[in-house]
Amino acid sequence: MCGIIGYVGSAERDAPDAIDVLLEGLSELEYRGYDSAGVALANGTLDVHKAEGELEALTSSLSTESLRDPAVGIGHTRWSTHGPPTDENAHPHTDAEGRVAVVHNGIIENYQTLRDELAADGVTFESQTDTEVVPHLIARSLESGDGDDGDERYDSADHKRAFRRAIDRLEGSYAIAAVFEGEETVYATRKDSPLVLGIDDSDGGAVATDGSDAVAATDGDGSTGYFLASDVPAFIEYTDRVVYLEDEEFVRLDATGWTVSDSDGVPLEKPVQTVDWDAEDTGKSGYDHYMLKEIHEQPSSLRQCLRGRVNELQGTVTLEELDALVDREFASPVRFVACGTSYHAARYGASLLQRRGTPATATIASEFTTDRVPVADGSLVVGITQSGETADTLRALREAQTAGATTLAVTNTVGSSAARAADHALYIRAGPEIGVAATKTFASQQLSVSLLSAALTDRASHEEVQSLRRVPDQVQTVLDTSNARAIAAELVGAGAFFFIGRGLNYPVALEGALKFKEITYEHAEGFAAGELKHGPLALVTEDTPVFAIVTGDGEVARKTISNIKEVEARDAPVVVVTDGVSDVERYADYVLEIPETDERAAAVLANVQLQLIAYWVAHEMGRSIDKPRNLAKSVTVE
Ligand code: GLU
Repeated sequence: MCGIIGYVGSAERDAPDAIDVLLEGLSELEYRGYDSAGVALANGTLDVHKAEGELEALTSSLSTESLRDPAVGIGHTRWSTHGPPTDENAHPHTDAEGRVAVVHNGIIENYQTLRDELAADGVTFESQTDTEVVPHLIARSLESGDGDDGDERYDSADHKRAFRRAIDRLEGSYAIAAVFEGEETVYATRKDSPLVLGIDDSDGGAVATDGSDAVAATDGDGSTGYFLASDVPAFIEYTDRVVYLEDEEFVRLDATGWTVSDSDGVPLEKPVQTVDWDAEDTGKSGYDHYMLKEIHEQPSSLRQCLRGRVNELQGTVTLEELDALVDREFASPVRFVACGTSYHAARYGASLLQRRGTPATATIASEFTTDRVPVADGSLVVGITQSGETADTLRALREAQTAGATTLAVTNTVGSSAARAADHALYIRAGPEIGVAATKTFASQQLSVSLLSAALTDRASHEEVQSLRRVPDQVQTVLDTSNARAIAAELVGAGAFFFIGRGLNYPVALEGALKFKEITYEHAEGFAAGELKHGPLALVTEDTPVFAIVTGDGEVARKTISNIKEVEARDAPVVVVTDGVSDVERYADYVLEIPETDERAAAVLANVQLQLIAYWVAHEMGRSIDKPRNLAKSVTVE
């Protein structure tokens, strides 16, 4: 996930300079990625500037005064997936001759094949990104001169053809924008990554122009031009008139107008819509809080997590970045270390491995020292940390390494300290998370450790791979149908909140309680359901709602139902999160439904309902949801 912006200033007006529009737009998009940034200005020649680090690093390295003239350009703020954040890996990427500059959001799954093919043709790569294949493919297509007069000076038709040909070769997800030497035009397309067009041509027209008979004339009241971005906030300051692009549509912007066409090049009439956002809301895409926005981003972030890693037909899981790790034998057990929410993902991961017959443990990182937790020489220690900067987890990984373990960091942040300190890194690809309470990163951690457990044991049944594939759509179903808000309204004001689950649902109970306490400031505890009668039952009254997670109808479900009866007998309100298979609804006061699936995937879906419960109770109570008191997003002290 990252932020893309493109801009073409209107021909007839005092349009703002591209450099200002691009930098302002990128600052609005920084929530989508901020490990490096760059711009390319098209003014006959291409002028590319990029820098590792937050946008500020780019801004302060530019002498904007000298970049005033160009009215056309593209920009990017990166969230690395392939290659660490460095100047070289920052976008835009260009071909060897500097004829085209490209920015990309997403993952090109077949990049290695394309890279090998281009390298065999003599192309030298400057970066480690998947993206860099795109400008080289475009350049090769230009040079091949198919269908043109073979002139070294390419025209608009050549550019358009070469851009489409390159895109035809790509598999994966992308929003891509390109600018060419010798043409003041932005070309772009998308597949499974967002891209929206902003129009400020003051004509109110809803008809796409095709360049030859442009209708986008200005009426002289200060129109600025045409914008392209991953998200509306990037240009809302200039216009609220937008065209949402669909997958495999192509857009071309120049000073006279905009064209959208389908994958065969047929021009499309796209409706122009007016968005109704005020500037305050924009970074949150209209949601009240980043947390709710991030909860709703889960279908797409989970798709990113799975992209290129599961093959449903063959029933296989491939984690390219762990090629060197997965075929090795490790001394038992595999040890997971993590803190907070990541620790719950660690517990879930350890349980998944145990189910496959591989001994595994999960330890809270601050409790992990090699004198207390013996690490066998030649074992594998997996540290899970969203930020990759969690001090406790970093220390544990380093200590394990010293004790002779191979270490693996499971993290959301490419090039983070954990990714660098560990021998291997597995990226969860959730995109930036602003809300302090982790939501989408937990779901992506759950899927990532599912993939890891399949890869490490070299086993994944077709059914398992299929159920993983279905998770993003099923999360969408939960989001579309959840009644969590209504249930939350009924429960606000209770004395305490308990969460129970068994097996794979035990970490979900722990995470449900943690999310709840983090943002509501109410007393919430998660228990292994079987533990209730060993103590916590003393706390259960008619004023303590109990959330129970019951999936499937096996022994685990039956035993959890017995535990539900224990709390019911104490008059506690019972909320079940269930797929409905076990008929547990009969014992519940409230039901949060999830789609039926296998127990591993069910743990991801059930958690989404509990995220929503925490959110809506906190919302009802007027809490500071995105920045809960006393908490920070990444904990860099021990
Ligand atoms: N896969 C590309 C990279 O790693 C784009 C990542 C993004 O969406 O920012 O550079």
